[in-house]
Amino acid sequence: MFGKGFKLFKIFGFEVKVDFSWLILAVLITWSLAKGLFPVYYKNFATATYWWMGVFGAIGLFISIVFHELSHSLVARKFDLPISGITLFIFGGVAHMQEEPKNAKTELWMALAGPLASILLGGIFYLIHLLDVENTWGEPVHGVILYLSLINLILAGFNLLPAFPLDGGRVLRALLWTWKKDLRWATKLSSNIGSGFGMILIILGALSFISGNFIGGVWWFLIGMFIRAASHQSYQQLLMRRALEGEPVERFMKKDPVVVEAETHLDKFVEDYIYEYHFKMYPVVQDAVLSGCVHLSQVKLIAREEWSQHTVKEIMGPCDGSNTIDIKADAVEALSKMRTNGLSRIMVTRNSQLAGIVTLKDLLEFLSLKVDLEESA
Ligand SMILES: [Zn+2]
Repeated sequence: MFGKGFKLFKIFGFEVKVDFSWLILAVLITWSLAKGLFPVYYKNFATATYWWMGVFGAIGLFISIVFHELSHSLVARKFDLPISGITLFIFGGVAHMQEEPKNAKTELWMALAGPLASILLGGIFYLIHLLDVENTWGEPVHGVILYLSLINLILAGFNLLPAFPLDGGRVLRALLWTWKKDLRWATKLSSNIGSGFGMILIILGALSFISGNFIGGVWWFLIGMFIRAASHQSYQQLLMRRALEGEPVERFMKKDPVVVEAETHLDKFVEDYIYEYHFKMYPVVQDAVLSGCVHLSQVKLIAREEWSQHTVKEIMGPCDGSNTIDIKADAVEALSKMRTNGLSRIMVTRNSQLAGIVTLKDLLEFLSLKVDLEESA
C-alpha cells in the first residue's frame, strides 16, 4: 500500500518517513489554506501573508500528525510491541506495527494514545493563543495557531470514528475482544462496521460532488474507499496470521536455492540467472559461505555497457534481519518481514549459513489451501 518514500529523521528511535503522496497533500493543504480558509476568516491581508500562513499551517499539520503517530508508537513500545517507524502518506500517518497487540488492554491504550495526544496538542495551541492577550504577535500568527488548535481536535475526532482500522475502530475492537474473548469475531465485526463507515463516506462524497463541492466530495469519496480497503485488508491479515502462527519457516522453505558466486560478472549474472530463473533477488556466496544478496534493482544502477567490468560482489547488499530469517522462526515473522520490506523472497539461514529460500507465493498458496479446508469443514 505504501511506496518507498524517503527518510526524514529519527525520533525516540522511530524512523519518520514521508511517502511521495504526502507531498501532494502538503501542496493541497498549503493551497487550500492560502486560497480558501484563511481569506474567508481574515480579510485584507496581503497575498504573500496568506501564503506563508498556508505554509506554516501545513508544517504545523505535519508536526501534529507525527506527534499523533509518535504517541501510538511510544505506548506500543511500553507494551513491548515493536514499531519499525512512522510513515506519512496522503491520508495522514501510520505507525508500522510489526505484530498485533497481544491483548485487548494493549490495543485499547495504544489506540487511545493518538487521539488523546491530538486533543492535548489542540489544547496547547489554544493556550498559546490565549497567552498573547495584547495581540502583539499579529492576526496572521493567531490565525495559524487557532487553525492548528482546531485541526488537532478534528484529527482526534476523525480518528475516533468507530471505523476499523481507524483508532476508534481499534477501541471498538478492544472492547468487543474483552467482551467475547474472541479476537477473530471482534475483528470481523469491527471491520464490517469500518467498511460500512467507508460506504457512508463514499455516498456523502458523491452527494457533495453532485451538489457542487467538487474537491471536498472527491476527498471524502477517496477516504471512504481507503477505509473500506483498509478494513477488509486488516481482517484478511488477521486470518493470515492465524493460519501461519506456529508454523516454522522450515515448512515452506525451498532447499538448495539458486545462488550466485560473488565473482560473477554482471553481464553473465543477467544472462544466466535473471533471464534464466526470472527471480529478482539471489543469495550471493563466496567460498560456499553466504556473503550477501543481490537484487535486480542494484544491477539497474550500473550502465549496461559496464556490466562486463563489474562483479556481483561490488553491487550486492548485506544479509541482515531485513532479508534473512532463521529456519526455526515463525512463518508469521517471515510474512511481516516481506510486508515491511516489500520483498517477495527472503533467505532462510541455519547458524548463519544459507539453508533455503522462502517466497511469498509459497506462503500464500499454503494459506489459500488452509482457508479452503477450514471453510468447508
Ligand atoms: Zn491514530
